[in-house]
Amino acid sequence: MRVFNTLTRKKEEFIPVQEGKVGMYVCGPTVYNYIHIGNARPMIVFDTVRRYLEYKGYDVNYVSNFTDVDDKIIKKAMEEGVESVVISERFIEECKKDMEGLNVKPATIHPKATEEIGGMIRMIQTLIEKGHAYEADGTVYFKTRSFKEYGKLSKKNIDDLEAGHRDIKVRGEEGKKDPLDFVLWKPKKEGEPAWKSPWGEGRPGWHIECSEMSKKYIGNTIDIHAGGEDLIFPHHENEIAQSEACNDEPFANYWMHNAFLNIDGEKMSKSAGNFFTVREISEKYPLQVIRFFMLSAHYRSPLNFSDTLVESSKNGLDRILTAIDSLRDAVSSNEGTLTGEDQKHLEKVQELVKKYEAAMEDDFNTADAIAAIFEMVKLANITAKDGSREYAEKLLETLEKLCDILGIITEREEELLDADVEALIEERQAARKERNFARADEIRDQLAAQGIILKDSREGVKWTRA
Ligand code: AMP
Ligand code: ZN
Repeated sequence: MRVFNTLTRKKEEFIPVQEGKVGMYVCGPTVYNYIHIGNARPMIVFDTVRRYLEYKGYDVNYVSNFTDVDDKIIKKAMEEGVESVVISERFIEECKKDMEGLNVKPATIHPKATEEIGGMIRMIQTLIEKGHAYEADGTVYFKTRSFKEYGKLSKKNIDDLEAGHRDIKVRGEEGKKDPLDFVLWKPKKEGEPAWKSPWGEGRPGWHIECSEMSKKYIGNTIDIHAGGEDLIFPHHENEIAQSEACNDEPFANYWMHNAFLNIDGEKMSKSAGNFFTVREISEKYPLQVIRFFMLSAHYRSPLNFSDTLVESSKNGLDRILTAIDSLRDAVSSNEGTLTGEDQKHLEKVQELVKKYEAAMEDDFNTADAIAAIFEMVKLANITAKDGSREYAEKLLETLEKLCDILGIITEREEELLDADVEALIEERQAARKERNFARADEIRDQLAAQGIILKDSREGVKWTRA
């Protein structure tokens, strides 16, 4: 299996530290709002990487954090007049709901930064003892030039970086000895959450969180560290400097970064305001369609979000689900064991499985893997009806397995979209007008079974989700 490693800018053979095991760390979201579909791209992509590794028989320790202490969380908490923890807990729960909708498996562990402060303090202490960090007025800085390999991930030259920083002075950072140095610990400001430390009350910088959590839950050297490509610099570059300076061991053997989800050619982001939350999109499309859409491109290629492209993914997914429905019908209505003809078709099925695996082994080329699934769908549509029951069973099992690796649920989405609910309500109104109360009641019960509650009022029918 070959993986493109951002560290070497090459595809490399994947060899884990420990045979049969993979330790994988994926930088998670800062929880101050609903996640947008750009944030969902790394979740879906790296969940698929995990699923393929598990299919290959690896025991995967998948760690993904929640950054639950941050300026943006504090700002939102102040606006609402609540504690930061109220905001972070609320959006951790909402994020988990979106992940479930996208069929992203829960991580082996989802550590929260605020629960790991002790470990971060210990790491910062080690860095000070080793001469890689210093304290000034309650702030602790990492001495960037003390780490000789700084810039090795982002391929930035430290002297060029220095030139770019020379004139920039940040208020409150007067004690910084070199403009390249970055914050490991910052002192408490009035009204902000803070923890006791040898340098006074305060809170950790963002980068040290991931260094500590990957060390604690995986080890000094992890196999795969992943995130969106905007994290390469400075976040991941700084994580390497902190971890390798502290542990004297390589930090991560493979660095994987997904390209952006764009909208009109621009990165989708909260700050630019050009985003859709996963929650908003779920009103318009089943989230399975969004997952399938994300995997229709290679993870290192930019992907443009547009209704036309999502519609085409919706049709593509529907073709797969229809083939699976027909295979299920064939399993219940066909009879008998494999015939010579079936055997011939199964050889073709095995070729397509190989094609799918070859695509995934080549740096997780999900686009080509999906192409192999479509070929199998075509074969199923031609052969299943006249094949034996055993053939239909084998083909169905294979197709379901290949879909499952991509996290595609092969049961049809039960949940009704808003538009479906409205249509059923209209049909119920029409039935009532025609005094067909049996049909009207039937529709009400059908909606109730799916958690839709109707309220008849003078202004018409109102509905809510239970
Ligand atoms: P944040 O909450 O901004 O730290 O982002 C969480 C994760 O989402 C990081 O891995 C980011 O790189 C990733 N991310 C944010 N915006 C996008 C986007 N438009 N496309 C792909 N990944 C993104
Ligand atoms: Zn991180």
